[in-house]
Amino acid sequence: MANRDELTSYQYRQIRGRVLAESDVCIVCGHGEADAVDHVHPVSKGGAPLDPDNLAPIHGTAGCPVCLRKCNNEKGNRPLADVVQLVTSVDWFAGP
Ligand SMILES: [Zn+2]
Ligand SMILES: [Zn+2]
Repeated sequence: MANRDELTSYQYRQIRGRVLAESDVCIVCGHGEADAVDHVHPVSKGGAPLDPDNLAPIHGTAGCPVCLRKCNNEKGNRPLADVVQLVTSVDWFAGP
């Protein structure tokens, strides 16, 4: 359980690739082409740092090409779980 608080950039890229390969629909604005991922349940609140199920696509520094929001910035330090409840009606945690 080293590095509980911070992913290395290598780990982040690996996990981001996996999450975005499944879906690049931003969890905040609902548009595609998300380029970053964020924790649904913050690691500081016990969320799993490297669990793809705890990571959701989100627009990062490049922003959304559709609505131009920078969703990750906009979210700030609100728990993503709060944001998720506002937007998603898709049960995207449900596996096969
Ligand atoms: Zn977005
Ligand atoms: Zn958008």
